Amino acid sequence: MEGLEEVRSILANPKNILITSHRNPDGDAIGSSLAMAIWLKRLGHHVMVAFPSEYPAIYGWMPGIDEVEIFDIDSENITRFIESMEVSIILDYNSLSRIDKLGDLFKDKDVYTMLIDHHLYPDPIGDFILSDTDASSTCELVYRFFCEYAPQSNIDLDIAECLYTGIVTDTGGFQYSTTPSLFRAVASIQELGVNTRAIHDLIFNALNEKNLRLLGHCLSNRMEILDEFKTGIIFLNKHDFAVFDIQRGDKEGIVNYLLKLKNVNMAIFIRQQPSIIKISFRSKGDFSVEEIAKNYFNGGGHRNASGGYTKIGLAATIDLIKSILPDYKEQLNKSILL
Ligand code: 5GP
Ligand code: MN
Repeated sequence: MEGLEEVRSILANPKNILITSHRNPDGDAIGSSLAMAIWLKRLGHHVMVAFPSEYPAIYGWMPGIDEVEIFDIDSENITRFIESMEVSIILDYNSLSRIDKLGDLFKDKDVYTMLIDHHLYPDPIGDFILSDTDASSTCELVYRFFCEYAPQSNIDLDIAECLYTGIVTDTGGFQYSTTPSLFRAVASIQELGVNTRAIHDLIFNALNEKNLRLLGHCLSNRMEILDEFKTGIIFLNKHDFAVFDIQRGDKEGIVNYLLKLKNVNMAIFIRQQPSIIKISFRSKGDFSVEEIAKNYFNGGGHRNASGGYTKIGLAATIDLIKSILPDYKEQLNKSILL
């Protein structure tokens, strides 16, 4: 692993270390950040984890989550910490632009920076860069980092639970991006005592009634299937947000229902938020939604899971999406599963 010697020398004595991850942190962003924080604290460092925005309530059980700072809620502690920050660790995102104002606070700080991520096309930020776009998750890479840093790395049960959470969520419950080496890593992680069944229930079987009713609404009233393009679209407008009292995390997983249709190769989930239209893209096979997110929607991500946004309103966004589809008709119709 290139640059590991330098990391070892940087971490040889206690440092003030800021760990950041992306807006709307998911299981991988949270899991990798908390795992890294626990591991660094065990080495004697002074660590702060900061997310631009809140995390979904289903992750409220995770070790160390109570100490996380949320920039949108209270930026004061973060701003103060950055004054004395000596190391910056960027996890599960690939460009400071993805953390908005939080990134502005430290983008010009001349401190040792580490980036560990699996998103496509990372910005060349970081003195130490562990970027592997074939990896299932940032948690898989963080595990790899821990193992290479020291063979008897201090991975305890708390760290293992965090890493498992990131892996199980970013692979959609071991559906995507699985490799023999991932399963070996997971075997070792489980051997540390992780109760995988309990974590599964905490994350995947933790909806409330409102969530299931929202899903029903999406499928009954807000779904359009464009057979010709093997594409499914679900949208939620401002009114829906109010009626269903939609909070952060309530929309999690809805986009995946479109992929359950045999005839759908691309799933698009559009939400009318207060100032932007946010879009999630998912695909099957070798069809790249990353390209569409990047070229048309100021976004990016992975080949089969990407996101982006517009500022042109809901109806215009849906029209824009529909106007692009003919260009991809052939690819969408031949997207190969294996
Ligand atoms: P989701 O649809 O679950 O929000 O995001 C799917 C994937 O796309 C994640 O890996 C996420 O990091 C990435 N992503 C979501 N929104 C954006 C965005 O606005 N810009 C970029 N570059 N990536 C995004
Ligand atoms: Mn990830």
